[in-house]
Amino acid sequence: MLLEYFKAEKLLKRYGINSVPGLYVSSPDEAVRFARGSAVVLKVLSDEALHKSSAGLVKVNLRGEGEIESAFRQLSQRRRALGIASYKVLCQKMAEPGVEAILGGREDPQFGRLMMLGLGGIYVEAFRDFALRICPIKRYDAEEMINQLMSGAVLTYKGKNREMLISLLMNVSRLLSSEKGIKELDLNPVILRERSYSIVDLRLLG
Ligand code: ADP
Ligand code: MG
Repeated sequence: MLLEYFKAEKLLKRYGINSVPGLYVSSPDEAVRFARGSAVVLKVLSDEALHKSSAGLVKVNLRGEGEIESAFRQLSQRRRALGIASYKVLCQKMAEPGVEAILGGREDPQFGRLMMLGLGGIYVEAFRDFALRICPIKRYDAEEMINQLMSGAVLTYKGKNREMLISLLMNVSRLLSSEKGIKELDLNPVILRERSYSIVDLRLLG
């Protein structure tokens, strides 16, 4: 079963994994208040639509009342057109740009708990660049995962955020090893920058 977004966020936080600030909103006004002048994202979360952006259910980089209101209206239309009955509208702060990575984990009948780090974003299909390990991983394994990737230097900004990425990987491994109730984890994307990261999409299956 899919964990509710904020339950998933809370669980991640317990392992030192932070996601971008967000709030469920039921009107454009609530989103405008949450934005407080900064850029925001609106997305429709529903068990009935797993791939939000390809379904037209994500609107990014919304600035000001006008943009937020019209995006909210467009999302409502889109949702109705798709016949989605059960949903929430999530408003998130727009994350600063960076390189998109995918961090995932799942239970495998043969190997146990697997985790993966890969290049995300628009290159994911073109390069299929990812590294897999069995949990729990040690620091050395996290380093190797990064080294093994073609995109390792891109994701780490030539090593500048390497420590940050290593500790993120170890935190995810700790979560996967300790939370036996979690069968699948998907952080896609994690937006990596030189000194920080933002998790903007998370999916935990229990
Ligand atoms: P889905 O994977 O279901 O299509 P996402 O929530 O991952 O939906 O959003 C799609 C894309 O929109 C992301 O891969 C990312 O590039 C961008 N995006 C989503 N939320 C944010 C955010 N809060 N800040 C910046 N970019 C975002
Ligand atoms: Mg996503």
